[in-house]
Amino acid sequence: MVSRMVKFISWGLLIFICLRPELAAGQAALNPKLVQAIDLEIEKNRAEMIKIRRFLHMNPELGNRELETAKLIASKLSSLGLEVKTGVAGTGVVGLLRGALPGPTVALRADMDALPIQELNTFPYRSLNPGVMHACGHDLHTTIALGAAMVLSTVKDKIRGQVKFIFQPAEEGLPPGEEGGAALMIKEGVLDNPPVRAIFALHVWPELETGTAGYASGYLMASSDNFILIVEGKSAHAARPQEGIDAVVLAAEVITNLQTIISRALDPVEPAVLTIGKIQGGTKANIIAEKVEMEGTVRTLNESVREKIPVLMENVIRGITKSYGASYSFRYERGTPPLYNHPDLVQAMLPVLEGALGPDRVVAVKPQMVAEDFALLAEKVPAFMYLLGVKGPGQTSVAPLHSPYFNPDERAIPVGIRAMCHLVLSALEQQAALKGTTGSDHLR
Ligand SMILES: [Zn+2]
Ligand SMILES: [Zn+2]
Repeated sequence: MVSRMVKFISWGLLIFICLRPELAAGQAALNPKLVQAIDLEIEKNRAEMIKIRRFLHMNPELGNRELETAKLIASKLSSLGLEVKTGVAGTGVVGLLRGALPGPTVALRADMDALPIQELNTFPYRSLNPGVMHACGHDLHTTIALGAAMVLSTVKDKIRGQVKFIFQPAEEGLPPGEEGGAALMIKEGVLDNPPVRAIFALHVWPELETGTAGYASGYLMASSDNFILIVEGKSAHAARPQEGIDAVVLAAEVITNLQTIISRALDPVEPAVLTIGKIQGGTKANIIAEKVEMEGTVRTLNESVREKIPVLMENVIRGITKSYGASYSFRYERGTPPLYNHPDLVQAMLPVLEGALGPDRVVAVKPQMVAEDFALLAEKVPAFMYLLGVKGPGQTSVAPLHSPYFNPDERAIPVGIRAMCHLVLSALEQQAALKGTTGSDHLR
């Protein structure tokens, strides 16, 4: 954590020094001719973008199984003249767009996987794959990144540096025993050759209206850790409790006391969630249960709180099971870290986002307790993930993410493409201007 902090502080200083002078000079906005060219291209490709999104929606694939999705992405990127690498972290695809002018590299990341959910929408382009659905909007993420590649490839003579398009598998979790997702992409060097200076991503957000974006400087999403807890007592006849150790009563006490960690042992201004989502125990109404198994998740926005929680949990579990003369096994697995948007990058890019969407269309949002493995990429390079509104105009309620009725407004696709094109081009221009377009690695 200390080394991470030092890294962020030094990165922050560099970005601050690099980006602010450009902004102070009022160069946050892109050249109006370039903006016009981008808008024309978006308009030209609008129908194709919707077609691609609907194809992806109809043909969703689970994590580490995104074979057809990857094929479509690779062939599209190749047809645009990008350098394409397939088979990155399994089914991942990376496309590199080289601008005509020398400069650094920034990346745009989109996730490709769907969820094991049976779609209940009835529109004609609903999922054709039984039990699998793009219920988290990754079909839109992929389409927007492809759209940005289509648009930016037509203005590459104006691009100062490289744009790396990262299409990531398995954001929603891995099949048992498999590696994958952002972690494996990093391990396979996705942020190197050429080195990535800053990385952007978006997540569709059903609570925000189409045409708007939500941002948070610093933490946007929570860490996500999982645990399995088994408490073991002694079975006996239900009418003779004195001869047994009741694992159900024990579990009840453990669960209640685990919740006091959040309410009594942690700083109340540091958000944390501890949820036991699954519990199973006992065999019959007239037998005292010998064993209760529980599974749960812990979410936090702070690394030191995150480190404390499993220690406090084990203290509670150990104390209570000991007082019952029972035993336990507790497995706590650290998952995704909190997602940290680099404040200096956010500060520098906010005027750009406002320029792309309109000043009153970009709103600050509170951190969310959901998790995203983009957090791992954000640990390595300054990152900015924002939330893209997909609630259609006039819609009062929209099905949430991971719902079998999730139905994001497709009109958000051109909005997302525009935002991404502006962010990527501005980030490159601001960095390249300072460095004298040498493309050297002094920022790393
Ligand atoms: Zn999701
Ligand atoms: Zn998602």
